[in-house]
Amino acid sequence: MIVGRMRNDGKSKRAVVLLSGGMDSSTALAFAAHEGFTCYALTFRYGQRHVREIYAAKQVADSLGIEHLIVEIDLRETAQSSALIGKLPIPKRRSPKMIASTIPATYVPARNTIFLAVALAWAEVLGARDIFTGANATDHSGYPDCRPSFFRAFERLANLATKAGVHGHKLRVHAPFVNMPKSGILKRGIALGVDYSLTHSCFDPSAEGLACGECDACTLRLEAFTAAGLKDPIAYATTSGDRGVRRRNALASESDDRGRAVAVDEDEDGSAATHQ
Ligand SMILES: [Zn+2]
Repeated sequence: MIVGRMRNDGKSKRAVVLLSGGMDSSTALAFAAHEGFTCYALTFRYGQRHVREIYAAKQVADSLGIEHLIVEIDLRETAQSSALIGKLPIPKRRSPKMIASTIPATYVPARNTIFLAVALAWAEVLGARDIFTGANATDHSGYPDCRPSFFRAFERLANLATKAGVHGHKLRVHAPFVNMPKSGILKRGIALGVDYSLTHSCFDPSAEGLACGECDACTLRLEAFTAAGLKDPIAYATTSGDRGVRRRNALASESDDRGRAVAVDEDEDGSAATHQ
């Protein structure tokens, strides 16, 4: 996909895009590029267990021809309470309904506030007036900093707290998918040509980098692909949940058309008739 490269000509408006390397943020990056912004992708190494996502973010940004900055912010001292950082187990095999019912152990205290603050600082330096996030509140876990009211509040803060804002250069925080079902985000991304084989969502990947298929992030991702009638192109160590447990392996996944989600008619045993 070359949308980003085509738009990245220095003539369009600049935007900073938070990029975790997952489905939603990768789609947000493609969306912002398609909207005509010259994008600057921003990823954080904050002490997360699933550091694999940083590699995914780099791959996604490279695939779109977009400048990518990885910032180190070590949250391990302040956010031990999060299962993504501390020693708590990663919740597994929870239904989407269970996932949405509470603020989960994977909540990282104030993470989006911290990330957006850094994005705001970089935006001011770049002369960017727009910040994009792929956060979504509908079928995502109940993170308080993924809600529309949070992003509206942060936008108000951004315009109060910066030289650019004081000088009348209004800053905007875009969360284009905040009220969209994850399957809708996926369909939008497919239309934009996002290469989901490059993305990584799992909170607890194997040593080889395979998604576990059982954590909340995997469950919501797999549900989105199922709801969209698509097959997830990434490799899983296992997939489970309401769909039943089945073993998959990297070789089988890699035999798919790499770089694309493909529509499938899939049997219970995982065999599939694919059609683009
Ligand atoms: Zn997982």
